[in-house]
Amino acid sequence: MTPAGEPSSPAPHRRPSPQRHGFAVSAGCSGGHPESGRREVPSMGRPDQPRNRLLSSLPPAELDALRPCLEPCSMKPRRVLHHDRAPMEHVYFVESGLVSVLAQIDERKAVEVWLIGREGLSGIPIVLGGSVSPHRRVVQLGGTALRMAAADVHAAMRDLPVFSVTMLRYVQLALAQTSQIGACNGAHAIRQRLARWLLTAQDRVGHDVLPLTHDMLARLLGVRRATITECIAVLDAERVLSTRRGRLEILDRERLESMSCLCYRIMANEHDRMMRDLHGIGAPPTICGHDHAASRREATETGSNTPTVSASPAP
Ligand SMILES: [Zn+2]
Repeated sequence: MTPAGEPSSPAPHRRPSPQRHGFAVSAGCSGGHPESGRREVPSMGRPDQPRNRLLSSLPPAELDALRPCLEPCSMKPRRVLHHDRAPMEHVYFVESGLVSVLAQIDERKAVEVWLIGREGLSGIPIVLGGSVSPHRRVVQLGGTALRMAAADVHAAMRDLPVFSVTMLRYVQLALAQTSQIGACNGAHAIRQRLARWLLTAQDRVGHDVLPLTHDMLARLLGVRRATITECIAVLDAERVLSTRRGRLEILDRERLESMSCLCYRIMANEHDRMMRDLHGIGAPPTICGHDHAASRREATETGSNTPTVSASPAP
């Protein structure tokens, strides 16, 4: 039986239990484990360098310790990763595609409160020690993810100091951005909100073409379809974007940003600040006292851990 609230997914390999073994980190941050040295990692489905930016920002030793617990899985459109008010069994580190966090507003409607792409993860309640999702998390644009069992996440946060700081830093980002989106929804016009959403989605997926329909955008933004159609028609006429059946391409990002409210820039700046922290510029202190910033700079210079910070100015 699949965990309640989560879809079934074929397990690509058998994971060792972190409760039994602990995480072995060659850098020595989590000494005292019964096992030392690197575990044997199954080669099938093993990601050499994750596209997820939280994982790719980790020092090589911690990433290696996590690898046996990361299960590649596909995310088909409309797949529900977590149902609302249902037990959560996994955290999903998004590698490609988009996941919406949806809040129910009446018996039939739910509105997006948070958008997750390769910069983040689905499953913050697990990171905070919870086990039930207050919201539904649905794949909007298909892609892939690396999923990790809740117990493994908790063990890794206990044993891997940089991973722990990274998870908490992401929670801080999510809190800041959900509150900004809440303020935006109450204060700004739908044209500005739509521009903000499209810019954020483009940042999250990393390309200009978004397979989105007017229906999807209307549901996510909590407005009527006709309202979205009217806004898109204006953007299309001004060559800011082009639309075809079920497909939307951003042509002029600079103009789209000028049409958005300030919320987009505030959110993008907050995301950039997080990525700078995670990649060692002003890195937060860690509980083991090891200079991870220096380790990462050294690793980057030697090419052993190339960060994947986007050249684009936003998340
Ligand atoms: Zn706004």
